[in-house]
Amino acid sequence: MLFSSTNNPNFRADMRSAVMRGLARDGGLFLPVEITALPASSIERLPSLSFQEIAFVLAKHFFTDSLDDNALSNIIEKSLTFDVPLVALPTKDDTAILELFCGPTLSFKDFGARFMAQLMSYCIGTTDKEVTILVATSGDTGSAVASGFFRVPGIRVYILYPSGKVSDIQEKQLTTYGDNITALEVDGVFDDCQRLVKQAFQDEDLREKKDLASANSINIARLIPQSFYYVWAYVQSLQMNTRKLPLVCAVPSGNFGNLTAGLLAKRIGIPFSRFVAATNINDPVPEYLQTGVFRPRPSRHTISNAMDVGNPSNFARMVALYHGDVNEMRKDLWGARFTDDETRAMMKKTYEDTNYILDPHGAVALLGIETYRLQHTEPLFGVALETAHPAKFIETVSEAIGIQPHIPERLARVAQKEKTAIRISNEYRDLKEFLFWRP
Ligand SMILES: *Cc1c(COP(=O)(O)O)cnc(C)c1O
Repeated sequence: MLFSSTNNPNFRADMRSAVMRGLARDGGLFLPVEITALPASSIERLPSLSFQEIAFVLAKHFFTDSLDDNALSNIIEKSLTFDVPLVALPTKDDTAILELFCGPTLSFKDFGARFMAQLMSYCIGTTDKEVTILVATSGDTGSAVASGFFRVPGIRVYILYPSGKVSDIQEKQLTTYGDNITALEVDGVFDDCQRLVKQAFQDEDLREKKDLASANSINIARLIPQSFYYVWAYVQSLQMNTRKLPLVCAVPSGNFGNLTAGLLAKRIGIPFSRFVAATNINDPVPEYLQTGVFRPRPSRHTISNAMDVGNPSNFARMVALYHGDVNEMRKDLWGARFTDDETRAMMKKTYEDTNYILDPHGAVALLGIETYRLQHTEPLFGVALETAHPAKFIETVSEAIGIQPHIPERLARVAQKEKTAIRISNEYRDLKEFLFWRP
């Protein structure tokens, strides 16, 4: 399988360089050159397969001959080690929640980060060269990357996070690994961390000495595995959706990687009727779907803060998939944005009606389904993606529903551990000096 760039459909890169570089040389994002439909016979066979078997069928479809079957099985076995249940909401027979938070760091980012880590390890192979990964995080991405790459041979990871700007538990999830994972606590804000990483990638001097690779959310190796759970959601819905209603899936979105992966699943022939692009007040995409005009802007802080993105990086991929035609995009996508008050009210109402505890991001997704229902007359089966465990947002959730959600053992254990981080200033020469002289 070859990959093209969103800036140039004629550009070509092989799997290895797409995965290791992250971004095309022309600054565009990688997309498969062509996305063909799965054969009808494969789609018919899906309901008899497990999640891992489905992952194998899809990975093979997307990566074709870039890796052999053994390597692919091995990557899947090592990365997709947890379940993805589709849970029916009590009292509702036409709405279900896809729980994407069962991985080691309790957010859906585990899927992409773990798969990417294993795929990169495969790309490095048995050479004794060491690859250095730099990643800037405002919370969730860093912990998923740290966990995914922990003790993966041949890879050293440096995570830059803004000092005092991540929650206590998030900080523990970044700073308690050790071994090949180093946390760099930056005196500054998230934008400083992102700038430092960018500068490092543009520094030829450093790149000559260190083999740098990017693990941020635009890496195609993070996007593709996210399409697997959409197919698994479809397969599980067949049991619940006894009236065979059209399937509508609401995706709580920030950088729109998750939603783009859903579009890939639809493109290969999985029968999703439509997707709801559900956002908080950071809403350039719902606005684009309404007006046809894309206006990126600075992000604003909300309680669903993993979606506080004013200029979504995967928008370029969405535009490329529809050749820039907003009307074509509208056939697959419907947008809606919600305020923090609406999100809190949704968490409260859902808990009172069904006993189900949503996190703020999942609440935005369920709002997306309910709003879609109100504005369309056709009956549908709604799937809301729950992207994080509610315990990760314990204060917001407790305040909204009046009780504290159960804290999973995994999270409680991390909280007990000792933090280890190296403090650096927000000046590039500090980071460079540190990286340059590391053995
Ligand atoms: C990252 C994140 C999102 C947003 O996902 P995108 O792929 O960036 O749209 C939503 N919810 C949670 C909990 C996240 O961590």
